[in-house]
Amino acid sequence: MARIVMKFGGTSVADLDRIHNVARHVKREVDAGHEVAVVVSAMSGKTNELVGWVQGMPKVSGANSPFFDAREYDAVVASGEQVTSGLLAIALQSMGIHARSWQGWQIPIRTDNAHGAARIQEIDGSFLVKRFGEGQVAVIAGFQGLAPDNRIATLGRGGSDTSAVAIAAAVKADRCDIYTDVDGVYTTDPRIEPKARRLAKVAFEEMLEMASLGAKVLQVRSVELAMVHKVRTFVRSSFDDPDAPGMGDPVNPPGTLICDEDEIVEQQVVTGIAYAKDEAQISLRRVADRPGVAAGIFGPLAEAGINVDMIVQNISEDGSRTDMTFTVPSADVDRALAVLEKVRQTVGFDAIQHDDGMSKVSVIGIGMRSHAGVAATAFKALADKAINIRAITTSEIKISILIDGPYTELAVRTLHSVYGLDKH
Ligand code: ASP
Ligand code: MG
Repeated sequence: MARIVMKFGGTSVADLDRIHNVARHVKREVDAGHEVAVVVSAMSGKTNELVGWVQGMPKVSGANSPFFDAREYDAVVASGEQVTSGLLAIALQSMGIHARSWQGWQIPIRTDNAHGAARIQEIDGSFLVKRFGEGQVAVIAGFQGLAPDNRIATLGRGGSDTSAVAIAAAVKADRCDIYTDVDGVYTTDPRIEPKARRLAKVAFEEMLEMASLGAKVLQVRSVELAMVHKVRTFVRSSFDDPDAPGMGDPVNPPGTLICDEDEIVEQQVVTGIAYAKDEAQISLRRVADRPGVAAGIFGPLAEAGINVDMIVQNISEDGSRTDMTFTVPSADVDRALAVLEKVRQTVGFDAIQHDDGMSKVSVIGIGMRSHAGVAATAFKALADKAINIRAITTSEIKISILIDGPYTELAVRTLHSVYGLDKH
C-alpha cells in the first residue's frame, strides 16, 4: 500500500465527462488499496474567465494592487477550484467511493499575506492522515489557501501544482502524480522536434531549469518545493485509459519521474533543450565604469517588477566606459526603456539600444558538471548552421544562448541532434 497524491489540471477536468474519467483514475488507485488525496485545478479556461471579470470591473486601488482589492480578486478566482472539487467528489461517490471535497481554508493550507501570489507557509497534514485511516478520499481544491488575515489567498497562476506537491510533503506521500494533457516531460518540445523523446526520469534541478526556461509542464514553485522535500513527482497523462495495463503500476507508472539525481543511474550529459521566445535585448552603450553602476541600473528595474535575465558586461577598454547588455521579456521592453531613461543622468551612459524578437535556447543536464566541452559543442553546431549568438550565460548544469527569434526552431533541432537526444 502506498500513499499517493493525484493532481489533475484544467484540461483533465474540463467538462463532466472528463471529470468522470478522472474519477476512474482515482478509483483504480483506491481499489488497489492505496491511500489517496486528489488535488484539482479549475476547468480549463475558467480561471482566465474569472480573472477577466475582475479586470473588467471599475478600477479602485486596493490592498496589494493598484487596480483592485487583491483579497476580492482571490475570493473570485479561487471559486473555479471549489466547483471542480465538489463535482469530482460527487463523481467518486457515485462510484461507491467514500470521498469529500476540501477547500484550502478547511484543511487549512496556510499561506502568507501576498494575495494573488501567496506562498504556502504551513499545512497540518494530520487531519488528512486521520481521514485516510477512515478510508476517505480527500478531494482538495488546488491553487488556494488561507492567509493570516483569515481570507482566501490564491497561489499565482498554475498554483495547483504547488498545492499538490505541498500536500504530498505534508502527508509524507510516497509520490505525487501530476496528471496533465501530455504524457510526460520530453527532451524538447515535440511540436518543434518530432524526434523528441519522453524522458523516464529527470532530476529535480534539471526540471527546475526546464520549467523556468519555458517547458510549461509544471509551475516552477512546485518543482522547488518537490526538490526541497524530495517529493517523487510523476508527470503523466489523464487522457490515457485509466484501466490500461500498467496504469496502476506502483513503481513505474507511465510518465516521467522527477526525482533526486541519486535515483538516476544512467545519467546523460545533456537531458533536454528548452527555449523561451519573446525575449528583448537591451544594450546600454558607454556606461560609466565605476562601483554602483549595476545597482543603479538593475535596482530600479527590479523595483518596477521587470524580470531581467541574461546580463553581460564588457571589460572596458580604457577603464572609464563599458557596455552593458541584458534581456527582458518583450512585453516589458517599453516599461524597461522608460525606467532606464529616468536613470540615464545619474548612472551615466550614452545610448540605449534595443532589439525585440530574440529567443533564448538552453541546453540542460546535470551531467555537464563532470563533462568538459559541452558548451563548445553547442557553439560549433550553431555556427555550422550560420546562427549568430548574441549573448551567452552558463550555470553548472545549463548553457543559455540568445539568438534571433526566427532561428529558434532550427537552433532547437540542431542542439537536440548534436547531443544525440533524438537517438533511442
Ligand atoms: N486554475 C489556476 C490557473 O489556471 C491554477 C492551476 O490551474 O494550476 O492558474
Ligand atoms: Mg497547470
